[in-house]
Formats: sequence, structure tokens, C-alpha cells
Amino acid sequence: MRIIMLGAPGVGKGTISSELTKLYNIPQISTGDILRSEVSKGSEIGKKAESFMKGGGLVPDDIIMECVESRLSEDDCTNGFILDGFPRTIAQAELLKTLLHRKSLSLNAIINLEAPEDLIMRRLTSRRTCSNPSCQAIFNIYTKPPKRDGVCDFCESPLVQREDEKEEVIMHRLRVYKENTLPLIEYYKNEPIFFSIPCIDPKETVDGIRRRLDS
Ligand code: AMP
Repeated sequence: MRIIMLGAPGVGKGTISSELTKLYNIPQISTGDILRSEVSKGSEIGKKAESFMKGGGLVPDDIIMECVESRLSEDDCTNGFILDGFPRTIAQAELLKTLLHRKSLSLNAIINLEAPEDLIMRRLTSRRTCSNPSCQAIFNIYTKPPKRDGVCDFCESPLVQREDEKEEVIMHRLRVYKENTLPLIEYYKNEPIFFSIPCIDPKETVDGIRRRLDS
């Protein structure tokens, strides 16, 4: 199963993707997570990406494609994958098309998650992320609090509010999304494998996606 997960920052792409990874036994490939891990390792890619990420802007396509191409060649992708947060621009969608063609792979679903902007804002500002780069578990101070305040349930590292989840940066990320990523809906909407689904209650969303994919 090869899936692209689209939607605004904070709509729930990460949450829904991580549920689908269990159902279909495929990895979730989040370009945001890959980049954050490169930044914390201090790699060449991380150094190049860091300033774009801090301000909530987009990292240049050549860096993104390098990350995606190398990740898709790993063994765990033979069963399929979920692309979460990629593509983010029409140019990236075109590059992905070429890459998949070169690998003789086709997509099974392009899913667009939808939620009202005020809900997205609330979700993003209440999110806390595990500071351990190899964990990166996500909590929410209202809906999914950790067992101990400020501490990761899984690896006991401190939880932090990401720099790019502060309110003014989020406003900028939403503007960047509308300008660069929303046009992707137009780009994909006539594909028979494209569909939009509300993401208010994650369980309902996963059930809806499952019904659609298994039919
Ligand atoms: P995310 O966790 O998906 O919201 O990504 C966090 C940040 O990483 C974004 O605000 C961008 O700066 C960068 N990023 C992640 N994926 C991409 C992408 N496909 N294209 C460009 N920048 C990206």
C-alpha cells in the first residue's frame, strides 16, 4: 500500500499515518521527522535545513528529494509506505512522480485530511514533542497528556514545545501551506485514488480511510 497523506500542518497527518502503519504494516515517512533528526545530528542536510524550518518556511526541494529518495530505498519500504508531509509543492509532486516512475511503483491512495483552522491552531499550540531525536513521540496537553508532566511516557526524555509550534510561526506555516501546498489538491483531485476526509475524531477518520482502502 503506497499512500500520500495531505493536509494543513496540525490537521492530524502524523496521528492518522501512525495508525495506518499498524494496520497495513508499512512505514510512515515524515519529511519533517527526517529533517528534525538531521538537524539534531548536526549533519550537512540538517545544517542546510535548519534556518528554513525555524521560521516555518519550506526547505528547498533538492534537500527534500535527497531525504525522500534515500528513505524510499530502505528495505522496510518494499511493502509500501505513507508519505506524511511530502509532497508539499507542485514541484515536489512532479519530482515524486518521476521518482516513482523510475522505481516502477504506483500509488494506491492520495488522502486529504480536513479540519477547521481554529481546531488546527489549538492542536498545534497544545502539542508537546519528545526531545529525544530517536523517539519524537507526540503528546497533547489536553487530549493526550503524558503520564508525568513534561516527561515522555516511552523514553522518559523531557517533552518540549517545538520552536515552529509557537503561535506566530504557526500563522506563518498556515500561510505557507495555503500558498504552496493547497494547490496540490487541485493537482491531484482528478486522480481516481484521491479523496478528502474530515479529521476531527481520529478514530472515525481511520475507520473511514480503512473502509475506503479495503473496498
Ligand atoms: P512538519 O513536521 O511536516 O510540519 O515539518 C516541519 C518543517 O519541516 C516544515 O515547516 C518545513 O520547514 C520542513 N519540511 C517538512 N517537510 C517538507 C517538505 N516536503 N518540503 C519542504 N519543507 C518541508
